[in-house]
Amino acid sequence: MIRAVYPGSFDPVTNGHIDIIQRGAKIYDEVIVLVAENISKIPLFTLEERLSMLRESLQHIPNVKVDSFKGLLVDYIKKIDVRIIIRGLRAVSDFEYEFQQALTNKKLYPESETVFLISDIKYTFLSSSMVKEIAKFGGCVEDLVPECVAKKLYEKFNVKR
Ligand code: ADP
Repeated sequence: MIRAVYPGSFDPVTNGHIDIIQRGAKIYDEVIVLVAENISKIPLFTLEERLSMLRESLQHIPNVKVDSFKGLLVDYIKKIDVRIIIRGLRAVSDFEYEFQQALTNKKLYPESETVFLISDIKYTFLSSSMVKEIAKFGGCVEDLVPECVAKKLYEKFNVKR
């Protein structure tokens, strides 16, 4: 049984993340979506909110689990005996950061392997920050995030639609 993790901030989960998770779930026996507890940017959603939106949006994929981690990703995945790290690539702009991150994780945990998946072209522009920006000013995010996320975003920003 080959298990993989898909770590990220998921603040909040978007349809781009879900596209990557669906692809991962077709390749690996189990995908564990791992929400980072300690992220450098101040999140809009609490850890509990990010977890619960992911759980609700992913309930239709049986081989996907949602969990969170604190501290170094490599320490956590060593503990749960997982070696595959899935990351998503959008444009060339993602490459430098992802490359550095993958090499750092390899240095810290040589048995680990980062696997990059590319989402559908319709999601390549999509990011959590863009979705937050649109929702904040009352724009339509319905095609960009799962329904439960759109609802939560409008609630957070006190937007009536
Ligand atoms: P992080 O803060 O760790 O970058 P994110 O939640 O922003 O966490 O992203 C998690 C992973 O998903 C990253 O590898 C990111 O490049 C990827 N990702 C985010 N949005 C998309 C998208 N629309 N298409 C493909 N990959 C994506």
